[in-house]
Amino acid sequence: MTAINWHERAAALAADGRAFIDGWRVDARSGQRFDSTSPVDGRKLAEVARCDAQDVDLAVAAARRAFEDRRWAGKAPAERKRVLIRFAELMLAHREELALLETLDMGKPIRYSLSVDVQLAQNCIRWYGEATDKIYDQVAPSPEDSLALITREPVGVVAAIIPWNYPMLMAAWKIGPALAAGNSLVLKPSEKAPLSSLRLAELALEAGVPPGVFNVLPGYGDEAGKALALHMDVDCIAFTGSTRVGKQILQMAGQSNLKRAWTELGGKSANIVCADCPDLDAAVASAVGSIYFNQGESCNAPSRLFVEESIREAFLEKALRLVPRHAPGDPLDEQTVMGAIVDQIQMKTVLGYIEDGKAAGARLLAGGGAARQDSGGLYIEPTLFDGVDASMRIAREEIFGPVLSVLSFTDLDEAVRQANSTPYGLAAAVWTRDMSKAIRTARALRAGTVHVNQYDNDDITVPFGGYKQSGNGRDKSLHAFDKYTELKTTWIQV
Ligand code: NAD
Repeated sequence: MTAINWHERAAALAADGRAFIDGWRVDARSGQRFDSTSPVDGRKLAEVARCDAQDVDLAVAAARRAFEDRRWAGKAPAERKRVLIRFAELMLAHREELALLETLDMGKPIRYSLSVDVQLAQNCIRWYGEATDKIYDQVAPSPEDSLALITREPVGVVAAIIPWNYPMLMAAWKIGPALAAGNSLVLKPSEKAPLSSLRLAELALEAGVPPGVFNVLPGYGDEAGKALALHMDVDCIAFTGSTRVGKQILQMAGQSNLKRAWTELGGKSANIVCADCPDLDAAVASAVGSIYFNQGESCNAPSRLFVEESIREAFLEKALRLVPRHAPGDPLDEQTVMGAIVDQIQMKTVLGYIEDGKAAGARLLAGGGAARQDSGGLYIEPTLFDGVDASMRIAREEIFGPVLSVLSFTDLDEAVRQANSTPYGLAAAVWTRDMSKAIRTARALRAGTVHVNQYDNDDITVPFGGYKQSGNGRDKSLHAFDKYTELKTTWIQV
C-alpha cells in the first residue's frame, strides 16, 4: 500500500462552505460569509455561509415540510435502516476526505481523524440504523375492557448545535438517533469547524435521506444558534458545548416554545490513583495519554489527577518520561499524536490558564508554552503542574487544552470529596486493586461515567452525559432515543 501524501491532498482540497438546506447547497440569504482558517498552518480553507435568522427560518420550514408529509417518518423502519447503513458506508468510502476536512478544520492529527473520528462517527450512524427495526413498543397491563398502547413517536423538527472538538462525531451522536427515530434535523456546527458536517449532509442525501430531512446551517452561535434555540417551530434542541452557553439554551427554550432541551456540557474530570493501583505503568500511561489526546480538547479529559502521596514521586517520574512523546507535531504527518489548538481564542485561553497556575504557586514540571511557532499554526506544549491546590483556578475550571493538574491525597474519602466539589460531573476514574474500595468509590463519585482501572474504554452501546452542570440527558446507546421521541399512550375501549 502506498502512503498517502496528506500535504498534496490538502493542497488540492476544495471545501464547500455553503449551507445545506432542503437538499441544496446554498449561500446565506444575506450573502455574508466568513473565512474558515486552518489552525494547522493558517491556510484559508473555505468561505463559509454566515447563516442567520432568515436561513434558520428556511431550514426549519424545510424540515417541517419534510416531517409533516412523512417522507422520512412514514417510511418503514427497515427502509430507514437501509438508508442509514448506506450513509455509514458512504462515510467509510469517503473516509480519507472526511478525515482531511476534520484535521484541517480543527487541527487534530490525521491518524486520529481517520482511526477515531470517521470510524466512530460512521459506526454510530450504522448502529442507530441497525437499531431502527429492532425496537418494540409496549402494551400496558390494562383491564380486559381496554387495550393501552405505549408507543414512541418522533418529536418532529430537531435542532442540533454542536462544538468543534469532535465535529463529525458530535454530529453523528445527534444525527444517528434523531434520524433513526424519524425526525427531521437542522444541524448547526461550530463556526470553528463546520466543514465535515456540511459534507455529511451531502453523503446522507446520496444515501437516500430525502431532501429537507437533514439540513446544515453553518454560522455563529449568537446568530444562527440563537435563532434556532428561540425558534417557535423547533420541537427539540439538542445542544453540545460549554456550560455557559448550555444555560442560555435552556433559557431560550423556556422563553420561546418550551421545546425539549437537552444539554451535553463541560467537565473537569477527576482521575484518582490509589497506592494499591494494580498497574502503575498503565495508570501513568492512561493519565498522560488521556489528558493530551485531542490536544486536551475533550469534554471528559481527566484534567484533575489525584495521586496518593506515597506513590506521587514514582508516578511523576514515570509521567515526566512520557510527556515529551506527546509533543505537538505536524497534524498531516501520520506519526503525530498531538496536533494544533483550534484557534487564537482557545490558544490564548489555555496559555492564560498556564500563567494563572504559575502565579498561584503550582509547580510547572513540563511544557508551559507555545510550540511550532514557525509553522504558521497554533500549538501548545503538553503541560504538567504538580503541587496543585484544589482552590486554584487550574483545578476548578475547564481549561480545554493540554494541561494536567496533579493534586495529591492521603485520605481517599477526602480525595472523593474534592473530586466531587466541582459544578461538573461528566466523568471520573479510580485505580485500585481492592474491588470493594473501587465499587464504593465509583458509587460515591458524582459523574455520568466512572472508570475503574482504565480511562479509555468507550463504545456506542453505553450512554454518555453528565451529572450536575455537565448537562442533562444522554447521548449514545438506546437511551439517546429518549431525547428524540415522545411517549404516546393510546387507550382503546374493547
Ligand atoms: P460553545 O458553547 O462555545 O459552542 C458550542 C456551540 O454553541 C457552537 O456551535 C456555537 O456556535 C454555539 N453557540 C454559542 N453561543 C450560542 C448562543 N448564544 N446560542 C446558541 N448557540 C450558541 O462550546 P465550544 O467551545 O464549541 O465547545 C467546547 C465545550 O463543549 C467544552 O465546554 C466541552 O466540554 C463541551 N463538550 C461537551 C461534550 C459532552 O458530550 N458533554 C462533548 C464535546 C464538547
